[in-house]
Amino acid sequence: MQNAAPSPLYITMHASDNVAIVANDGGLPAGTVFPSGLALREQVPQGHKVALVDLPKGGAVRRYNVPIGYALKDIPAGSWVHERLLQMPDARGLDNLPMATVKPATPPPLDGYTFEGFRNPDGSVGTRNILAITQTVQCVAGVTDFAVQRIKAELLPKYPNVDDVVALEHSYGCGVAIDAPDAVVPIRTLRNISLNPNFGGEVMVVSLGCEKLQPERLLPPGSIPLVDQREAAGAVSDPKLDVVCLQDDAHVGFMAMVEAIMLQAQQHLQRLNARQRETVPASELVVGVQCGGSDAFSGITANPAVGFCTDLLVRAGAAVMFSETTEVRDGIAQLTARATTPEVAQALIREMAWYDAYLRRGSVDRSANTTPGNKQGGLSNIVEKAMGSIVKSGSAPISGVLAPGEKLKQKGLVYAATPASDFICGTLQLAAGMNLHVFTTGRGTPYGLAQVPVIKVATRSDLARRWHDLMDVNAGAIADGSATVEEVGWELFRLMLDVASGRKKTWAEQWKLHNALVLFNPAPVT
Ligand code: CA
Repeated sequence: MQNAAPSPLYITMHASDNVAIVANDGGLPAGTVFPSGLALREQVPQGHKVALVDLPKGGAVRRYNVPIGYALKDIPAGSWVHERLLQMPDARGLDNLPMATVKPATPPPLDGYTFEGFRNPDGSVGTRNILAITQTVQCVAGVTDFAVQRIKAELLPKYPNVDDVVALEHSYGCGVAIDAPDAVVPIRTLRNISLNPNFGGEVMVVSLGCEKLQPERLLPPGSIPLVDQREAAGAVSDPKLDVVCLQDDAHVGFMAMVEAIMLQAQQHLQRLNARQRETVPASELVVGVQCGGSDAFSGITANPAVGFCTDLLVRAGAAVMFSETTEVRDGIAQLTARATTPEVAQALIREMAWYDAYLRRGSVDRSANTTPGNKQGGLSNIVEKAMGSIVKSGSAPISGVLAPGEKLKQKGLVYAATPASDFICGTLQLAAGMNLHVFTTGRGTPYGLAQVPVIKVATRSDLARRWHDLMDVNAGAIADGSATVEEVGWELFRLMLDVASGRKKTWAEQWKLHNALVLFNPAPVT
């Protein structure tokens, strides 16, 4: 069927905005007249801004009802408003912020939604049943990978209830200033990742022997709930941490190391294989949301739909983390206002201040965030990007804050402070204990993780069409007018329950698209 050419469409986020986004695929040519009567003075690409009124030099350019910049010259109505015409505003200072001032009415709880998950001894719930092999140091990565290939080929077929075997490879562990104060970040990140709910408490470690990050430092006694429980029950004769040390004299030759790893893996596989999915309430979801490869549609379609879904999850009693410090920094006043208590607001300010100082040490600021692709996609600067990013957090009160690498211990909406880097954010959300990941993209990225299902949401129908076997949800339907934010939010919520239950696989799972774990190490290397 031949569709008639769609009528010209722009999208405004707020009644007081003086720019709007061109929605049509391929953009619109000069001379296009919108139903409002506005005529384009020049060609405007899709996702880019058009001036709705004459913008005087020095005047505020408003989107999301905030100044995203100041006009560097007079910009007539109907012009393309791109980043070269805008002076970026300074970052909001961190004093005199509104503290826990917004008191939204509590929406009714959302009861009755469940999924099929793996209940863990510590009370957490996994959405997948994975044997993860923790490593103390990068030196052991090659040997561990060799062993994992053999485990997958020779052992895994015997344990059909186990979904996968994953080596937790990383670049840390030695050659680092391990006693520097900030080294706590990568160390606790690694520790908490190995305790992620999707690994069932079955912690096994491969160590080299001479590295700085010794196994007892990575996982001190008492840090693994399951081992402690088995010990208490008398079920483990040797409650020590399960470590294969490659430099151990017992290993003569490479194959001895590989076989030692396989022998240990078999014990864990047996226990993991005995686990069964059971029906659990949706409140057991721990969802990490982030965006990557953003465009101007991120803040119109995908992120608002994720925000609506975030509100559903919070109403269902689940935990939702949003992150990406440089992408929320410009909205700090909104966030402190939405905090449940002044203490939570203070913790938000603490994380922003820490990150401001971290960036200053590198002689940059939050404006280092935006990419060439963001700008091609219509995002002029970090202020505009941030406003579109924050909407992923929906409208629920912010009830907690995590420093990078900390483990989440509460329900509700939480700010997990992380860099915006896709891989570092995902790695830190894994450490916080996420059992489901939601990722929005406009430019398109095939991002995926081996440790947790990643549901990818496209901001534009054009991307969803081209990447039909990579994108799980098309929020571009919102810009096309064929679905509402609420409808896509519900679609995402239901898909989450299916994916969490193992009834559906995400495209990234189907193709086994696994990005690296990337640790955030703000401390020096040696
Ligand atoms: Ca990101």
